[in-house]
Amino acid sequence: MGKSAYHDVVTDIEICEKNNGRAGGETALVVVSKTFPGEQIIPILNAGARIFGENRVQEAAAKWPQLRDQFDSIKLHLIGPLQSNKAAEAVKLFDVIQTIDREKIAAAISKEMKKQNKNLQLFVQVNIGCEEQKAGVLPQDAVEFVSLCREKYQLRVTGLMCIPPNNESPAPHFEHLRNLSKMCDCQYLSMGMSADYKTAIEFGASHVRVGSAIFGKREATKPSV
Ligand SMILES: *Cc1c(COP(=O)(O)O)cnc(C)c1O
Repeated sequence: MGKSAYHDVVTDIEICEKNNGRAGGETALVVVSKTFPGEQIIPILNAGARIFGENRVQEAAAKWPQLRDQFDSIKLHLIGPLQSNKAAEAVKLFDVIQTIDREKIAAAISKEMKKQNKNLQLFVQVNIGCEEQKAGVLPQDAVEFVSLCREKYQLRVTGLMCIPPNNESPAPHFEHLRNLSKMCDCQYLSMGMSADYKTAIEFGASHVRVGSAIFGKREATKPSV
């Protein structure tokens, strides 16, 4: 785990891009560093990683300002659910928010970006398996919700994100998200985690989110939804 596991994932992504006729470097690796402390993240930064994902605003606020002081060009993605009372801090800390999924959040992020004079890239999270416990807009509402974000709130929605159901084959869900992204005129597709990032690349992922394959197992926390 750590640096050598990171290099293995990078190599796997390159091989996978090649095998699927995709351009090398087309898939961004978002290193999911949630629950891991700065000491464990620094070796991965030293290995060259610059795109990281965190699922909690408070945790990111505690870890990343110091790491940003030590390393240039870090891009931080929020991949966990966002409460509107954390919008100000989220806009301040993150470069990309992947979890826009309701009008209240769209409104709060829009207001904060104007206030802070920032224009983050935003992805809409889609509840691709229509699971009751999961965040995200339902697939059938995605086109309308993306339009609402763009037109009413001037949000720069450039991608869709999904977490497929745990106990199902992810491929049909990845394919579904890819089709939706075309209907929504979204360039980016954030899909695929440690267990299925190769399948996701096959189906056109632009961003894969990989945590445990790089850092090892996490201590049990609240399941991310
Ligand atoms: C934790 C998390 C990941 C990373 O999961 P691994 O299986 O450890 O790679 C990816 N995406 C989201 C939204 C997560 O919460």
